[in-house]
Amino acid sequence: MEAGNPHAVCIPLPAQGHINPMLLLAKLLHFHGFHITFIHTEFNYHRLVQSRGLDSLRGSPHFRFETITDGLPSTNMRGIQDLPDLCLALPVHGLRSFRELIMKLNARSDVPPVTSIISDGVMSFTLEVAEEFGIPEMVLFTPSACGMLGYLHFEDLKERGYFPLKAAAVILNTFDDFEHHVLDAIKTKLPKLYTVGPLSMLQRRLCPTNLDSIGSNLWKEDTQCLGWLDRWKPKSVVYVNYGSLITVTPQHLREFAWGLADTNYPFLWVIRPDIVDGGGERILSKEFTAAISDRGLLVGWCPQERVLSHPSVGGFLMHCGWNSTMESVSEGVPLICWPFFAEQQMNCFYSCTKWGIGMEIDSDIKREKVESLVRELMEGMKGQGLRQNAIDWKKKAEIATSPDGSSYINFNKIVIQLKQRMP
Ligand code: UDP
Repeated sequence: MEAGNPHAVCIPLPAQGHINPMLLLAKLLHFHGFHITFIHTEFNYHRLVQSRGLDSLRGSPHFRFETITDGLPSTNMRGIQDLPDLCLALPVHGLRSFRELIMKLNARSDVPPVTSIISDGVMSFTLEVAEEFGIPEMVLFTPSACGMLGYLHFEDLKERGYFPLKAAAVILNTFDDFEHHVLDAIKTKLPKLYTVGPLSMLQRRLCPTNLDSIGSNLWKEDTQCLGWLDRWKPKSVVYVNYGSLITVTPQHLREFAWGLADTNYPFLWVIRPDIVDGGGERILSKEFTAAISDRGLLVGWCPQERVLSHPSVGGFLMHCGWNSTMESVSEGVPLICWPFFAEQQMNCFYSCTKWGIGMEIDSDIKREKVESLVRELMEGMKGQGLRQNAIDWKKKAEIATSPDGSSYINFNKIVIQLKQRMP
């Protein structure tokens, strides 16, 4: 790579569901000849060293990691940070640190000058730095288009200056067929909109082995669960995971546990160490452990995409996080939806009523309902319909990410724009 190569600085919101899609986009750009600087907060950098080892952050001469400070005290290196606190601290401390980093990068002779900044939609403070240095910026919005449309109507965000976006272009991790009408509505407000999803599928198709060793999981993955999945019949295992941020009450955890135990289906259940105050697994009784025997596997964190693509997995009980929804659609796996916050309710509504891939479970979890919905999903008529729809969407996602597809074409447009030093 020459000094004249484009240099994209990628800065995600420092939360798992934002880091993952940004990393996929960065790998895609790197594959197209970009020098990449990928920015973590110092807090997350240390977590990644702990969960994945330093080697996973060495990158390559043209894919490098840098850090900024987030301004929060680094008291708890095990758990997650308080997201509202983080969102308040970043525009002050993160902004200062980010400005210094851009200056430092531009002063170096061993990397090309920064030609573009790709920023998370929630990190709009980076616009200030981009404008100051005259560097073109694109924004990656990590929620769904239907969720984003909701945010665009959020008056408070307008007052706080997030919207209307000053950015020239917005990137979304969805595909045209999937959210056609919503995308049309957004384009009336943001004409330069690029859909490149499902990002994980696009990355797999374009550059499957590019920078394979670089990952972004902040928790240590349990890969043995993949061997456990090998033991079960195709489409017979229920996969349960509520993402990286949600916390659940002990009571809800017990209701999920007994509901799953009562179905008689094998299940893989991710219980993050910080999911319940006091430790999730310890809340579950010996009686429960005895009842499930080896039919249920509980792990702290798993390689989710590999789990969803495993032939044994037949359904996903989930929280409607957007990355998880896209990853599930990419594998044609139907859903039971337990939305919690942010735009998850919107994702649930669309999954259940528009895309026909999911069933909603009441927010106040009861074991009988867990049992009956899991049975319906795995063996009922409705479940069969949802599975068929999920498979149909998977095929449409494959078309979108193939060479004549909308996501593929849009990604190439992004590359061209960024290489031209977008005005
Ligand atoms: N994830 C994972 N292993 C887990 C749980 C989650 O790899 O055990 C990944 C998942 O594949 C997804 C991200 O973490 O890419 C979670 O993002 P999402 O938007 O679904 O939810 P959030 O964590 O932001 O609520």
